Amino acid sequence: MRLVKTIKEVREIVNGWKKEGLSVGLVPTMGYLHEGHESLIVKSVSQNDKTVVSVFVNPIQFGPNEDLASYPRDIEHDKELVKNAGADLIFNPEPEEMYGKHFTTLVNTTEVSENLCGAKRPVHFGGVCTVLTKLFNIVNPERAYFGQKDAQQLAVVKRFVKDLNFDIEIVGCPIIREADGLAKSSRNTYLNKEERKAALILSKSLKLGKEAILKGERNSSKVIEIITNNLNTEKLAKVDYVSIVDNENIQYVDKIEGEILCAIAVYIGKTRLIDNFIYKCED
Ligand code: AMP
Repeated sequence: MRLVKTIKEVREIVNGWKKEGLSVGLVPTMGYLHEGHESLIVKSVSQNDKTVVSVFVNPIQFGPNEDLASYPRDIEHDKELVKNAGADLIFNPEPEEMYGKHFTTLVNTTEVSENLCGAKRPVHFGGVCTVLTKLFNIVNPERAYFGQKDAQQLAVVKRFVKDLNFDIEIVGCPIIREADGLAKSSRNTYLNKEERKAALILSKSLKLGKEAILKGERNSSKVIEIITNNLNTEKLAKVDYVSIVDNENIQYVDKIEGEILCAIAVYIGKTRLIDNFIYKCED
């Protein structure tokens, strides 16, 4: 397993693999890797001859008052995890390597990125689509792996890859959780002991919403109310949004039908956490 910091080195290594006819999988991450990232890497290793993991805290996907400076970083730990998961290469560029002095191009989607996190974090998905376009062009993978944890991101990526004719298969992977139900996230490290306990309210509230749907509730407002009321029982929690959208275009739906995404963003103290579930109606 090698770690490289320049685009030139990645291209040389990947070109060598391609000449041998080997397939390449890409797992884009911001590092501080945990079992959620690991599941994506393991999936890629199982489906491709070679796997590249990018570790890059992408400055242009953070808003001015967000946590770019404090985002956790630990490349030595990441190297160990990537090696043990069986990947072949870490691409860990500095921001200057990715964005020269006169970087002025932005790739963005409309519609699919306008609601949920897109509404709350206006620059976010433009930054995500732009960095992924660059990573796709640098690594030239056959497949790229994304977690359902960031459900809107997965929908956005599927859309821009289709719209811009990237010849890359986008593979979605299930949410990996702690034993008590909290979705694994690099940002969980911000939580103190009391907040960590309080953070359980996200998965617990989603579970109540899902149970209501399973019992036959088809009115989105009713499900949203059940989830919101339960979130509000936790004094450290401040709801950012609770929404139900169709899982393809990420548009709000009044009625639960087809495949819906129920997504929440909640502040626990100063830490903003997201979680979600997908439900496919058979009726
Ligand atoms: P990040 O480093 O947070 O940008 O995440 C990199 C990739 O890992 C994204 O595709 C995330 O959706 C995915 N990911 C993060 N946390 C989890 C998790 N708990 N389960 C599954 N995938 C995850």
